[in-house]
Amino acid sequence: MKVNKLLKIIFHIIIFVLLTVLTQIGGILFIVVIFLFRKDANRRKLKQFALFILLYLFSTFIIVPNLAPIFGREKIKNTEFIQAHSFFFKLANRNYVKPELNNAMQKIAIKLNENHTGIKLIYLDANFPFFNKFPLLPHLSHNDGKKIDISLIYENKNGGLTNKKKSISGYGAFEAPTNSEYNQVSVCKNKGHWQYDYSKFLSFGSINSEINFSTNGTRTLINLILNNNEVEKLFIEPHLKNRLNLTNNKVRFHGCYAVRHDDHIHFQIK
Ligand SMILES: [Zn+2]
Repeated sequence: MKVNKLLKIIFHIIIFVLLTVLTQIGGILFIVVIFLFRKDANRRKLKQFALFILLYLFSTFIIVPNLAPIFGREKIKNTEFIQAHSFFFKLANRNYVKPELNNAMQKIAIKLNENHTGIKLIYLDANFPFFNKFPLLPHLSHNDGKKIDISLIYENKNGGLTNKKKSISGYGAFEAPTNSEYNQVSVCKNKGHWQYDYSKFLSFGSINSEINFSTNGTRTLINLILNNNEVEKLFIEPHLKNRLNLTNNKVRFHGCYAVRHDDHIHFQIK
């Protein structure tokens, strides 16, 4: 086999893996498109690229939402009270949950708005549409439709709550422990868990430097989550658990093998 051909195959495998890890369905569609054109077809690469984009968008927004219920999942319903942090989560099929979680989120979001008018439940990574045990990387546990990450709540300079967030991706903008607070991050890192704060590389930039973490808004949101009967547990960094005075035993520590949870909240249903 010629070196060029081998390199091409390796390149295709890398693209397949990346697209699968990012979007679940992208890798398969990529393989389909590669085999669809004759080797000598005119402008083969351009046609493949255009067809891939069309096929991917059609699948993501028309086909997948209709197939997911067969696997017990559905798209998170966006309303005036619930939104994805960015279009990426919807474009990458990372917004699927079990109907029970969807309902719980709707109830929590409506109550959040009753407590703080105009403040929305903003979600990050949920689950992929298909197959239990297929993890939504880098979150190994987001593999059954029962898990969801949501954003913390922030306030303006004048203390009013805002729907703005601090990180472009939604991850990696930490509300770090103060000097007087328990520092789980250094405890885990000192034990050799180097990955504990690697989400700092995933923020893709910080935005909205004028806003600050809202103790009051985030506490309201978390208590509404904890009060929902479907909810089994919630992960947040220990120093925030203390700062927010959370005593409900659904609040757990995720362990040093996970990543720090002071840039987002994770919760899951039974
Ligand atoms: Zn999570």
